[in-house]
Amino acid sequence: MKEKKWVDCPSCGSKSSMVLKSNIAENYHVKDYGSVKITGLTGHFCKVCKDGFYNIKSQNHINSTVAAFKARKDSNSVVAAELVSVDEMAKRLKRTRQSIHKMMNNGKIKYVFVGDIRLPLKKQELAIK
Ligand SMILES: [Zn+2]
Repeated sequence: MKEKKWVDCPSCGSKSSMVLKSNIAENYHVKDYGSVKITGLTGHFCKVCKDGFYNIKSQNHINSTVAAFKARKDSNSVVAAELVSVDEMAKRLKRTRQSIHKMMNNGKIKYVFVGDIRLPLKKQELAIK
């Protein structure tokens, strides 16, 4: 994926209004889960309307932080019978263990923490592209 260079604001149409901001901290509201603070974000934002976009690396960082945040919360309500190992999930989806870990990182596979180990949920609506 190529990083887009924002100059004009696509939201409000202002010319040359997009500026690069880094080290942004944001409280992220996750539906049904509450909010999580995410730091170290970078993106282009409009000086006029304040609308903007995080870069791809920051978007990935947001996705993985939100996925881990949900996983920590879900750890309290999910029982062992609802979980499978990464190996098992890899077999089911005919993918490598590595790609299962990647999909957990970007939130495509839901998982919970059991101690420090991440285990995928058996049943899930997968958003696989
Ligand atoms: Zn704007």
